[in-house]
Amino acid sequence: MIGFPRIGKKRELKFASEKFFKGEISKAELVKTAADIRLYGWRKQREAGIGFIASNDFSFYDNLLDTAFLLNVIPERYKQLNLSELETYFAVAHGYQGAAGDVKALPMKKWFNTNYHYIVPQIDGKTTIRLAANPKPVTEYNEAKAAGIQTVSNLIGIYTFLRLARYEDGRKAADFVADAVSAYSNLACQLDAAGAEWLSIAEPALVLDMDEAEKQLFCKIYNDLIDKIHTKTRLKIAVQTYFGDVRDMYAELTSLNLDGIGLDFVEGKRSLELLKRGFPADTLLFAGIVNGKNIWRSNYEQKNALLAEIEKTVDAQRVVVATSCSLLHVPYTVEAETELSDSIKQHLAFAEEKLLELNDIATADASALNRNKALFAHERVEKKAAVQQSLNALTNSDFNRQPSRIERRKIQKNVLNLPPFPTTTIGSFPQTADVRANRAAFKNKKISAEQYREFNRRKIAECIALQEALGLDVLVHGEFERNDMVEYFGNNLDGFIFTQNAWVQSYGTRCVKPPVVWGDISRSAPITVEWSVFAQSQTQKPVKGMLTGPVTILNWSFPREDVSLKVQAQQIGLAIRDEVLDLERNGIRIIQIDEAALREKLPLRRSDWHSEYLDWAIPAFRLVHAKVKPETQIHTHMCYSEFGDIIRDIDAMDADVITFEASRSDLKLLDALKAADFQTQVGPGVYDIHSPRVPSVSEIVDALHKIISKVDKKNVWVNPDCGLKTRGTEETTASLKNLVEAAKQLREE
Ligand code: GLN
Ligand code: ZN
Repeated sequence: MIGFPRIGKKRELKFASEKFFKGEISKAELVKTAADIRLYGWRKQREAGIGFIASNDFSFYDNLLDTAFLLNVIPERYKQLNLSELETYFAVAHGYQGAAGDVKALPMKKWFNTNYHYIVPQIDGKTTIRLAANPKPVTEYNEAKAAGIQTVSNLIGIYTFLRLARYEDGRKAADFVADAVSAYSNLACQLDAAGAEWLSIAEPALVLDMDEAEKQLFCKIYNDLIDKIHTKTRLKIAVQTYFGDVRDMYAELTSLNLDGIGLDFVEGKRSLELLKRGFPADTLLFAGIVNGKNIWRSNYEQKNALLAEIEKTVDAQRVVVATSCSLLHVPYTVEAETELSDSIKQHLAFAEEKLLELNDIATADASALNRNKALFAHERVEKKAAVQQSLNALTNSDFNRQPSRIERRKIQKNVLNLPPFPTTTIGSFPQTADVRANRAAFKNKKISAEQYREFNRRKIAECIALQEALGLDVLVHGEFERNDMVEYFGNNLDGFIFTQNAWVQSYGTRCVKPPVVWGDISRSAPITVEWSVFAQSQTQKPVKGMLTGPVTILNWSFPREDVSLKVQAQQIGLAIRDEVLDLERNGIRIIQIDEAALREKLPLRRSDWHSEYLDWAIPAFRLVHAKVKPETQIHTHMCYSEFGDIIRDIDAMDADVITFEASRSDLKLLDALKAADFQTQVGPGVYDIHSPRVPSVSEIVDALHKIISKVDKKNVWVNPDCGLKTRGTEETTASLKNLVEAAKQLREE
């Protein structure tokens, strides 16, 4: 087992941590909650007959941050706060503002191709790597042992740690190898003394593209580390990989003196082929064949066939049936779902069900196999004929908007008649308590549909009036009807199902409950038209229709696996296209289709970017807008500015305007826009909406000067970074006032 969920079956860790931060419970209470969560996971694994039960997979916030603390990689500014260890830990994760000082949090990044985020360790001139006193892996190993459970301590490997860290003061990974190796071998000695038998070291960074220097770094680390551990202890050592195959490193990995190697046969497309090149005798293969990321039942016949292939190279006794990655990425249990029917639930497997699957597959249990066969004997869902017909009828013209962007531009200029440097916002306005209360009251049937609608209309009218008073050029309705940009559309499209308790950790105490794509997706009625039309009726200025794009909807859901992602994206694309055309038909002149998460599922290896992802993702977006009239202006929005490397693909989405987050990244993307001769009009966010700070006029003017030094000024829009829904009303009004003023100054110049 690589890892088990750790937020608590009812998100106990989230609630306890939040109470602890507010001073409502003591540290002892928080620590107790954490211990209960760990014990629950260990017992579940034991009950399910798991042979290698994981410890040290728990974390109060993030495992990479734990590893940084384990290795003393804690920047000075946090140490200088002189807080307790746990408080220092949270200071790094959240930032700290109080009696002891004022420091920002370390940055966060997405963990490989998952929706989980890790804290990026910072290594600088002052960093000395050494093993922490009372190392967490030993404490947790002992805790499990005291409960009568033998566990395998799971560590994040030195290579992955050093590869993901950010370096300052001219430091580099190689400077830290010797110290990290002695810290880990020291740790191994302590685990050995405590009675551990195995140590599992995760090196997911081996599935990334690796160059010569990286390969050498890895080999250096492991030649030393394995040697040291084997000389000093009786511990068996496994290196565990996941999220892909180790094509650049297979030969090296299998030539190390390891006792176990973990390979991913689900996302690792080449793992089987690599295995057939040979596998060392006397080494266990931890064969990741049960998908650790999806929520669907495994098809046992298919898994058995895969296992049979694997066992052609490795004796059955040396193969350990495992999940493809940590179960951190799935919810706890299907049993907690109270509103889904049994006919749906029988197709789902969350973490606890996956443990049972491992056992079923490993023991080749005949009755389990038969039940599983019966489940897969029929199609899970019927195809929707109308959806199939629309998909089959798609031709090139569905993906290619006419006329060209340059032609459209002239037409749109005439009809929209916008000033230079047009000002706009990204869509949502502050989701104040009354807005949330109104939605909740409607959902709980405490108010009528008419009351619900009346409230939203009043909010929209106020929002339009505010934007007019501020002098913005392109207005929005404010998105008061939406809880979440994906869930809202999932709720209003056919084909999705929603869980009650299937929470998955996204970062720290933040969890998400993604919708599940269950069947063919279709739209039975207009979704947003009523709100947009009402908003437009309140003003002469154009109001943007506001939609979420197919790639983002899919990336933030659990996709189905019986049809390809491409087909699912097309189905969603067709449904959203109907909404686009309805908005246009009802007088909406500008439509924004958000693709906030477009970059998120970019494959880990560059060679797969187009063939596996962009080649369907970009067309899915084009499908949504290709049929609109030339005078309808299409906008899109993206949250992360890290798309310098796919800039041409973004341009190929063929939107008329794109807005994106840029202020936090110091407008770095502008160089890439310039280099690529980017054709889409752009609104790089001129201030950061993630903070309540109000930007001054001159700050925004400066940002705009930077922008026009790189981008043709005729192409520039002026807008915040992202939606304003998490902000307060006061700071929003003040910020937008300054934004409009800054645009005015630029026009005068
Ligand atoms: N239109 C959405 C909003 O303004 C976009 C949100 C996002 O990019 N995450 O809230
Ligand atoms: Zn955004």
